[in-house]
Amino acid sequence: MRIPFVAGNWKMNKTVAEARDLVSKVGAQLREIPSVEKVLCPPFTALPALSAMLEGSDIGLGAQNMHWEEKGAFTGEVAPGMVKEFCNYVIIGHSERRAYFGETDENVNRKLRAALKFDLTAIVCVGETLDQYESGLTSEVVRRQISLGFAGTDSAFGARLVVAYEPVWAIGTGKASSAVNANEVLSQVIRPALSDLFGMETAQSIRILYGGSVTASNASEFFTQSEIDGALVGGASLKADEFVGITKAAAK
Ligand code: PEP
Repeated sequence: MRIPFVAGNWKMNKTVAEARDLVSKVGAQLREIPSVEKVLCPPFTALPALSAMLEGSDIGLGAQNMHWEEKGAFTGEVAPGMVKEFCNYVIIGHSERRAYFGETDENVNRKLRAALKFDLTAIVCVGETLDQYESGLTSEVVRRQISLGFAGTDSAFGARLVVAYEPVWAIGTGKASSAVNANEVLSQVIRPALSDLFGMETAQSIRILYGGSVTASNASEFFTQSEIDGALVGGASLKADEFVGITKAAAK
């Protein structure tokens, strides 16, 4: 039985004051949905304030990225141990990191290993671009992202691995994938690829999310699919009612 999982990726939005305001709007309502694992991923600057606000609650905090090195001359980067001071989760390999900051599957793999070493739950993003989708390359691309991204990871860490399937063409575009299409990628590509790496039992226990223009109105279409265990939510996670609505849909 996989516990439903909903994470909000706030991207580069919200000052500390705005972040506090959003958490004060969603906090109590999210706490009324205990059957869903809920994670907020604000910008780094809001992590200390939100970690104090959420202390003792069942709402988790995540970083949107981190470096794999533990310390050193990496100007502008944030180390895994620094993330761990405030968070139990980290998003790795988001398509915006891959597209705008040149992150490769090898980088993703290093970050994933660092996250596991520091006891963080890793939300690893995979997904094809529009060109790749239109050229029928979805399976090949996603399979490669999984096999390189997760290479060398011990199956003992299964409980701290979450995969987010996010077709790049569906992110922030308002054009979500069809739920059936997304479920097919999960059942025919992602879970088999995880099974090749970790064995069937562990693969069956790993949560796989869908991400890409999820809203409170379309969320239940995704969550009623057999393989979709939750969502990574971008734009809609910035709106209290939307994010609460998505989380409620995941509880059903
Ligand atoms: C995301 O940033 O991971 C995402 C899925 O964005 P959106 O929900 O806005 O498409």
